[in-house]
Amino acid sequence: MGDCIFCDIAAGAAPAHCVYDDGTVFAILSLEQPTPYKLLVIPHAHVENLFDLDDELAASIFKATVKIARSVRDVSGCPGLNLVQSNGTVGQQDVFHFHLHIVPRFEGDGILLDWDNSHASQDKLAQFAGEIRIGLQSNHE
Ligand SMILES: [Zn+2]
Repeated sequence: MGDCIFCDIAAGAAPAHCVYDDGTVFAILSLEQPTPYKLLVIPHAHVENLFDLDDELAASIFKATVKIARSVRDVSGCPGLNLVQSNGTVGQQDVFHFHLHIVPRFEGDGILLDWDNSHASQDKLAQFAGEIRIGLQSNHE
């Protein structure tokens, strides 16, 4: 057993209920099931967070996620679904090996994604958009 539970699971050294594995990305049932069929989508490679994904791995993860989400919808009959992906301690990341939560949603399931939905000023929106556009031009990979 190593320092990373998801590396251990990927290596078959720790148990999990695997539902998908294409050799690059795998998916397991979450230990916690706040709604039935909640899954985690995980790359085999130990990549800490979103910022460390290369293009190919990012594409592989999202392709797998879409495929798995459709299957979860078909099996569970969930009328809604959230993808939750956390980065950094302040972002509530708990295991520092990239993972994406597939959370099926049902009427009255008690889950609340809650943040301030009031509108920011147009000045703020223009400022933030300008900063991000400039940042994107400086070739972040
Ligand atoms: Zn790992």
